[in-house]
Amino acid sequence: MADALFIDITTPNGRRYQQPTGLFINNKFRPSSGGQTITSLDPATDEPIATVHAATAEDVDAAVQAAKAALSHPSWKLLPGTERGQMMGRLADLMEQNRELFASIDAWDNGKPYHVAYEEDLTEAITTIRYYSGWADKSFGQTISTTPQKFAYTLRQPIGVVGQIIPWNYPLSMATWKLGPALACGNTVVIKAAEQTPLSILVLATLIKEAGFPAGVVNIINGYGREAGAALVQHPLVDKVAFTGSTATAREIMKMAAGTLKNITLETGGKSPLIIFPDADLEQAVKWSHFGIMSNQGQICTATSRIFVHRSILDSFLAKFKETIETTSKIGDQWDSTTFQGPQVTRTQYERVLEYIDIAKKEGATVLTGGKSHTPTDPKNAKGYFIEPTVFTNVTDNMRICQEEVFGPVVVILPFDSEDESVRRANDSTYGLGAAVFTKDLERAHRVAADIEAGMVWINSSQDCDPRIPFGGVKQSGIGRELGEAGLEAYSSLKAVHVNLGSRL
Ligand code: NAD
Repeated sequence: MADALFIDITTPNGRRYQQPTGLFINNKFRPSSGGQTITSLDPATDEPIATVHAATAEDVDAAVQAAKAALSHPSWKLLPGTERGQMMGRLADLMEQNRELFASIDAWDNGKPYHVAYEEDLTEAITTIRYYSGWADKSFGQTISTTPQKFAYTLRQPIGVVGQIIPWNYPLSMATWKLGPALACGNTVVIKAAEQTPLSILVLATLIKEAGFPAGVVNIINGYGREAGAALVQHPLVDKVAFTGSTATAREIMKMAAGTLKNITLETGGKSPLIIFPDADLEQAVKWSHFGIMSNQGQICTATSRIFVHRSILDSFLAKFKETIETTSKIGDQWDSTTFQGPQVTRTQYERVLEYIDIAKKEGATVLTGGKSHTPTDPKNAKGYFIEPTVFTNVTDNMRICQEEVFGPVVVILPFDSEDESVRRANDSTYGLGAAVFTKDLERAHRVAADIEAGMVWINSSQDCDPRIPFGGVKQSGIGRELGEAGLEAYSSLKAVHVNLGSRL
């Protein structure tokens, strides 16, 4: 039971703070109406961190009603975009001031190394809010020339109440990818965090209030997907749903949203290819392809988890890739500054990844390295969810390990002989999220980038996303785009206004 709405916590790296535990509705924390809770565990020790309140359908309704009322309240509706942007800028400043605290909470809650949370996640989260603060007064319509009798223009307006559902792999940055464009466009929001990582977003809630956002503009709830998530998606007053998570859940959400014909944006899973041609800089290709699958414990939707290597360089690539794992992929808990790979986020994910490793072995793939759980040397981490970085060779394209998303530190490496073959096999997937190509041949780089069925292609890198650049997938990897100017499309609608300048019908 989460008794208090705030609890005093000291993180393992010594940060003392007050952790809110309630549902943030109308700028106040309140308990769950049904007394339901979520207990977050430290994935490195399997020990509980904190228990928070979980929303019922009734709580979701209260949050949506608050967002609906705020939408037409003059303090938000009439607020000039410039002032909205300043509020967002203040939020980014407050996040910067609390950077160490946020990094500590997300590292503890999610399992990612503290230095990664601090340098990568927080940089991305703060930059995203700051980037969209600049758009708040730069998003507008057009005037349209027609005939001398008609003047026409468009208004770019908020969609309304937005329901947002996020996953656990980048708790704070996933929240900012959704809040940034939604607020820049003047919407009001109910956002639901993932059950696995409920903590940092509640601290963000306190900063949202401190930055001056009027009550009801941002409502933040924790809750279970099937109850709180489903209630949000089906609520008749929610005008738009933005979801990031698995493809299976996205299918459910599409079905549920159909009931009230909601505008939806979906960011889902992937099995992203990375192709290495023989003329590539091999050191760079090894470095990026290792980062592309093994960073964030492999829990990246765009993880380049199928590596296609030209047969002529396969042996040297495999040797260097294995050596990089041995020298770089140090496994440990979140607090060791030399840790590259922490535990998987939950026991469920840990077991799921080990099951896929087992499936691949049974399918006949060869383990080049890894292939099992990792036993930590420190006894306090004995129950942690650690897995060895795992590389499979002798894989065929139809194997499950080559088709299905593992969402862990597991990669397949496959040889190819020609460019056409590499593109055809890269495209042999139900997914189409990210892709990467390594070559020094400019023509080939752009030709392959154009031919790959993916929402994003990296030439000579992997995973170097940027809040200024659109992000999203094709095929079963999603619908719509987040980030960049394109991210504004998802959160605004165009209204056409026709002005009759003549006196005749
Ligand atoms: P998930 O789909 O189980 O959960 C994601 C979110 O959806 C959580 O907040 C959960 O509570 C909610 N949810 C679950 N069932 C729901 C329902 N029936 N109705 C409404 N909401 C519901 O995914 P996960 O296991 O937490 O995350 C891992 C998956 O997310 C991976 O497959 C990964 O590829 C994907 N992902 C995609 C992106 C992207 O940007 N494309 C980013 C991160 C993760």
